[in-house]
Amino acid sequence: MNFEDFKLSEGTLRAIFKKGFEKPTLVQEKVIPILLNKETNLIVQAKTGTGKTASFGIPLVELLEPKKHVQAIILTPTRELALQVSEEINSLKRKKLKILPVYGGQSINLQIKHLKNGIDIVVGTPGRILDHIERKTLDISKVSYFILDEADEMLDMGFIEDVEKILKNTPQNKFFLMFSATIPQKIISLAKKYIKNYEVIKIVDKELTTKLTEQIYIEVNESNKLEALCRIIDLEENFYGLIFCRTKLEVDNVSNKLIERGYDAEALHGDFSQYQRERVLKKFKNKKSNILVATDVAARGLDIDGLTHVINYSVPLNPEYYVHRIGRTGRAGKEGIAITFVTPREYRQLFRIKKFSNAKIKEGKIPSVEQIIENKAQKIKEEILNAKIKVNDIYYKLAEELMENSDNKEIVAMLLSKAFKGLDPNSYEKITFTRKNSSSKVRLFIAKGRNTGMTKSSLIEFIVQNTSISRNVIQNVTILDKFSFITVPYKEAEIILSVFKKRGKRSIVSKAKAKN
Ligand code: AMP
Repeated sequence: MNFEDFKLSEGTLRAIFKKGFEKPTLVQEKVIPILLNKETNLIVQAKTGTGKTASFGIPLVELLEPKKHVQAIILTPTRELALQVSEEINSLKRKKLKILPVYGGQSINLQIKHLKNGIDIVVGTPGRILDHIERKTLDISKVSYFILDEADEMLDMGFIEDVEKILKNTPQNKFFLMFSATIPQKIISLAKKYIKNYEVIKIVDKELTTKLTEQIYIEVNESNKLEALCRIIDLEENFYGLIFCRTKLEVDNVSNKLIERGYDAEALHGDFSQYQRERVLKKFKNKKSNILVATDVAARGLDIDGLTHVINYSVPLNPEYYVHRIGRTGRAGKEGIAITFVTPREYRQLFRIKKFSNAKIKEGKIPSVEQIIENKAQKIKEEILNAKIKVNDIYYKLAEELMENSDNKEIVAMLLSKAFKGLDPNSYEKITFTRKNSSSKVRLFIAKGRNTGMTKSSLIEFIVQNTSISRNVIQNVTILDKFSFITVPYKEAEIILSVFKKRGKRSIVSKAKAKN
């Protein structure tokens, strides 16, 4: 299925292709037609990373016309998600629709000013939205769409009362959509209470396993990815690898930059004609180029022997893609290595992949410049010592003359630097790793307290046992009667939240509710 099949307007299609999306994801295939045809209310079981935002974002930008009142309201459990969702919808629109993220922590007066100017789509956290409704600075009595994003998370965080209060301010006649990674009973109860007819769509991941030799993830910032990639390529003596990107744009971007830096890279994505595709593949299979940068869709069905690496430049959209991607190395008894770049925001996705694929994905590091240069130097040494070149007498004579009056070491060094490039540390960029979110530690709420006999050390033990995170990152442990709190760095919080997220059940760990 293609985006063209939805019969979208030209403007929307252009926006989608500008984003570099090639094909609709599973959730988009199912949800977009239903929303476009205004068929029914929906409960959609889909996780973040499946393309769910665009599955409602595309129909919204297609169907809504700019008006001076709020036509759609989207509730999210966190301010990060509110921002993400509003950015995604903004990037999909071609009309003069106004979209506003509204969340706690941002100046309320500024939000009021924007709201007064007339907004079409409001995306926000429940607390702040309710605040605006109560101040009468936000009127949602004419919305046509009410969307709950990450509904299970929202209920876990105790927002149910707020959500119900907000719902009471919406008209009877509207579309109600819920997106949720799990569908526990309380979501069904909420739906039954407020919507008469609805359909449930489940996007279920199939279980798959992999037989890959070595799987590694490396934490990087978006801005360091290219440098990290170059270093990995340089470290390997005979790099022969597939680099996976999420979109066509990214494929073009990465392959062009690699070529600029002197690599033999080729690109492959859905815009290529059959002829171009065959040409690229032939070149790659014959090792005329040793790097192929591709999208998941373009690489479907590829079968290439002897790859040394598969690199996930972007974390794949769904765990299934991961298994497909890395299934391409380690074939035919040869060892392969799969490396996944993970930005701090994507830890949760990585964790899902680990669970889904049953894979052991170990943490790795970006190779250091010293390491690469040392490797290259060793290689040059071996090459020279093992070289079996018959040297003409004239060269011997020239060598004698050169060495007569000069420092031998200097002469050899000069010749080496002329003959072998790439030993200059300055040809590498510095990687200054700053984790955008890492300084912000996360306070977690644990629904277990002193009344179950828990102590500080037993709580730490419990977390460490279940998640294998290091105990010394757990700080500020507070044990109260019925519940407790801990503070951990961003990355570990993502891991803990994923581990304790039980399908269909209330998780005993959640982000502590911030004053919204
Ligand atoms: P979401 O599940 O909405 O958080 O989306 C995850 C990421 O996938 C976002 O960065 C989207 O821009 C991207 N995305 C959504 N749909 C597609 C698609 N059809 N093809 C490629 N990327 C997509």
